[in-house]
Amino acid sequence: SKRRGRNGWQAFTAELAEQQLQRLQLETHLRRAVYNDEFHLVYQPQVDLGSGRLVGSEALIRWRNRSLGEMRPDRFIDHAETTGDIVGIGRWVLREGCRQLRQWRDAGLAIDRIAINVSYRQFLSEDLIQSVREALDQSDLPGHMLELEFTERVLIEDDPDTHRAFDELRGMGVQLSIDDFGEGYSALNYLRRLPISGLKLSQLFIQGVPDNHSDVAVCQAVTGIASSLGLQVVAEGVETPAQRDFLLQLGITTGQGFLYAPGLPPDQFLQRYRAGAPD
Ligand code: C2E
Ligand code: CA
Ligand code: CA
Repeated sequence: SKRRGRNGWQAFTAELAEQQLQRLQLETHLRRAVYNDEFHLVYQPQVDLGSGRLVGSEALIRWRNRSLGEMRPDRFIDHAETTGDIVGIGRWVLREGCRQLRQWRDAGLAIDRIAINVSYRQFLSEDLIQSVREALDQSDLPGHMLELEFTERVLIEDDPDTHRAFDELRGMGVQLSIDDFGEGYSALNYLRRLPISGLKLSQLFIQGVPDNHSDVAVCQAVTGIASSLGLQVVAEGVETPAQRDFLLQLGITTGQGFLYAPGLPPDQFLQRYRAGAPD
């Protein structure tokens, strides 16, 4: 601000320099993180809201670095997009998520689907189709057991490459969902044009139901759009029985959230769901 004196200004620039240094540090470590085997995945169950039965799982990435500690994706995914490291990270996530699904199924767990987050830059890269194909082949999984979650940003660019990539993925049987649906862009046109199979109803709107009228209205609208277009809906961020009951009343049958479980390490996930679903 104008009121900053000379010392204030120096403190300000020092702060900026510090921030840049931290960023540089983070990006330097990030570059070697796949190679150094510093990532792992936790798995959040996706359940049938009526019965609590397991239907699938969303893989969520975690980064453990010796000097930076344990980090959630919010701290590094954007950086990885900027530097391009997301392409290699994304390839690793696909491979590891599919490997885990294969291992669970071999261990007798009744689970038919793994959902993987795909970022914008990763989607644009030449590498995506190839990575998906390799991940499925290596784990000997059919395409329909893999669901990719894209952000709306991927879809608004009405780009011929987007169409080609989506068609190719759908041709492999891969399920394609729109993450955080309703948060971002209002151009819903892409829903008609692209071979989408589902929507993730954003937790932003689940938080307010059943009391907040505008959140209720958004959930109703999304459900209406989805059912008239024949799209699957998964509600995310389900935290309370009241939210679950509201969703069931709306006709949304699948959800995930802290009411059921946070992201779990794979062995805990297996333990919890092997014997059948808790309520
Ligand atoms: P997202 O895809 O919307 O994932 C859901 C986030 O909400 C997760 O945070 C999850 O831990 C959290 N969550 C789950 N249930 C609840 C709930 O009931 N209440 C609340 N308040 N939160 C809940 P997380 O793991 O920190 O992931 C943050 C974001 O990072 C994800 O948002 C996703 O956009 C991105 N991300 C995660 N893993 C990957 C990945 O492998 N690749 C890419 N490109 N992005 C990823
Ligand atoms: Ca997601
Ligand atoms: Ca989401």
